[in-house]
Amino acid sequence: MTEKVVIIGSGPAGWAAAIYTSRADLKPLVIEGAVTEDNRLKGTLPLGQLALTTEVENYPGFPVANLEGYLDNAIDKSRRQYMAPHEGHGVSGPELMELMRQQASNFGATIQTDDVVEIDLSSRPFRLKTLGGKEVESHSVIVATGARANYLGLESEERFKNAGVSACAVCDGALPRFRNKPLVVVGGGDSAMEEATFLTKFASTVYIVHRRDEFRASKIMAERALANEKIDVKWNTVVDEVLGTDDAGVTGVRVRSTKDDSQTEELDASGYFAAIGHTPNTDFLGGQVELNDKGYIVWTTPARTYTSVEGVFAAGDVADDYYRQAITAAGTGCMAALDAERWLAAKGIE
Ligand code: NAP
Repeated sequence: MTEKVVIIGSGPAGWAAAIYTSRADLKPLVIEGAVTEDNRLKGTLPLGQLALTTEVENYPGFPVANLEGYLDNAIDKSRRQYMAPHEGHGVSGPELMELMRQQASNFGATIQTDDVVEIDLSSRPFRLKTLGGKEVESHSVIVATGARANYLGLESEERFKNAGVSACAVCDGALPRFRNKPLVVVGGGDSAMEEATFLTKFASTVYIVHRRDEFRASKIMAERALANEKIDVKWNTVVDEVLGTDDAGVTGVRVRSTKDDSQTEELDASGYFAAIGHTPNTDFLGGQVELNDKGYIVWTTPARTYTSVEGVFAAGDVADDYYRQAITAAGTGCMAALDAERWLAAKGIE
């Protein structure tokens, strides 16, 4: 059987596309990602980056302080076990994603918990292979695979992931190991400012290690961080190594001056947070879809989700290095669904 539309990815873009294509009776297949150790370490588990956050205060429609009864009603009981107990705040990232997933499922989307590892866009219908060994054919594809946080690529970062190394302060900052201890944030963009400022809630000191003598971050975010008494900026400095032991995890970070190579310093720290940008998840496309110089999928027509391959549409962060918001991802997911629906109709595939 050839699918009409396969949606790859399970963040807000993927679920919005699934809701729209289901309601258009296209019977979408959503390949939501696999639950593997590799995906956990890379930050590419199903439900995307929002599943790694706590409160989402800027997604319209959730002004209430307590959603407990609503969540119990809305979400299938078998999935409630994956959600942290509700603590009387607005909606959280994982809750928002489960709600969207449920909504897509309610309208008949088929969901496969698997990764697409290979895709052949050179002939039609398109052919996809999954990690679980499934082969799928589809007339159209919506790529909504999002982006993942970057690390510097140090062996020591890898060694201490989940033992003090993280790329998501909001997800991990409240863990006991980070409380009342010095922490290190690497980067000079808005993410670094946001993460460092957030971490001051828990840490005794937050060092921002930045390779230049000025931040890339917006003025307001940089000023807020610089005005924070708990933040200590190490300018013109790069990370040499994350220090630690198997038992204790991260215990410090060795940094080096970019002005004088011989100058190193060991900062005591129980945590190390990388905030040096993101990489879009496009490896599986194998170069068959045009990407921009940062590796994001290019929309070939302004305000349309068309890609360089006819019948392949892109939505969410995989095609957006600028807004990167849940609401914009959901919006472009809707656009991709409508674009795919119209394209299929024009081809006489209904
Ligand atoms: P970004 O703006 O690309 O900044 C990345 C930072 O990491 C830069 O300061 C860069 O240094 C540094 N960096 C990159 N590679 C490095 C390496 N190998 N070694 C050392 N440092 C390295 O990324 P971002 O902060 O994630 O922000 C991405 C976008 O999301 C931006 O448009 C931002 O405005 C937006 N955003 C907005 C908010 C908000 O408004 N609340 C929050 C987060 C992100 P250089 O400066 O030297 O290049």
